[in-house]
Amino acid sequence: MSDQLVVEDLSAGYNDMPVLHDVAFRVPKGAVTAIVGANGAGKTTLLATVAGLIKPSRGRVTFDGRDITGARADALPGLGLALVPEGGRLFPFMTVQENLQLGAYAPNARPHLAARMREVMDAFPILLERRDQHAGKLSGGERQMCAIARALMCRPALLLLDEPSVGLSPLMAERVLEIVTRLAREEGLTVVIVEQRVTEVLEIADEAHILDHGRIARSGTAAQFLADRSIQETYMGL
Ligand code: ATP
Repeated sequence: MSDQLVVEDLSAGYNDMPVLHDVAFRVPKGAVTAIVGANGAGKTTLLATVAGLIKPSRGRVTFDGRDITGARADALPGLGLALVPEGGRLFPFMTVQENLQLGAYAPNARPHLAARMREVMDAFPILLERRDQHAGKLSGGERQMCAIARALMCRPALLLLDEPSVGLSPLMAERVLEIVTRLAREEGLTVVIVEQRVTEVLEIADEAHILDHGRIARSGTAAQFLADRSIQETYMGL
């Protein structure tokens, strides 16, 4: 399997506070890659840096063979990379449909808006039902689905998901993770997912990386991590 995303020696932080130190990992095409680690380990910072929201002080990010280090965040959906931030960040006073439309703002996505809207409504029937409702009135699970669907409106090849199950009931979290698996297995979408629900995410992931104090502490297959009690105790607090 070829790599869709390659992160090399990436260091980044906020003003004078370094958070990530020489982070390196590869993301195979069509696979689900999980990034796990304690609170404050730098997982959100890592996704934000890959997605162009934070400029790295060092290192390189290559997406589909193209160097995107330091590229503007608003240019990335047009190249096929979409971020679903923690909490979804929908516009609460806009309808579900309007939120979805905003996901297709990239110039190469706009002409396909109607077709793409039908596809995401097919994939998330609940959003068709809630189409004219304000996003702020959705349940937590529906909001997360809407946020994922909005990211899919630009037909990305790579989806970066920041804690999609946060605040959801275990059942809803399971449903959201099932959707993520389906998108990867059936549509060939490449997924990088940050999750607090470590066991659940390892059960759906192919590969995993543990981030510890801004460094990659361990990398392996998700199955290896699930089977290794000492890794779970050392890094995952399980
Ligand atoms: P969590 O699971 O709690 O979301 P995380 O692994 O995603 O944690 P980050 O949110 O990336 O970790 O935070 C890494 C470090 O960067 C923490 O020390 C945090 O306090 C700091 N940090 C995060 N966002 C900012 C910001 N906007 N400005 C300054 N420091 C920040």
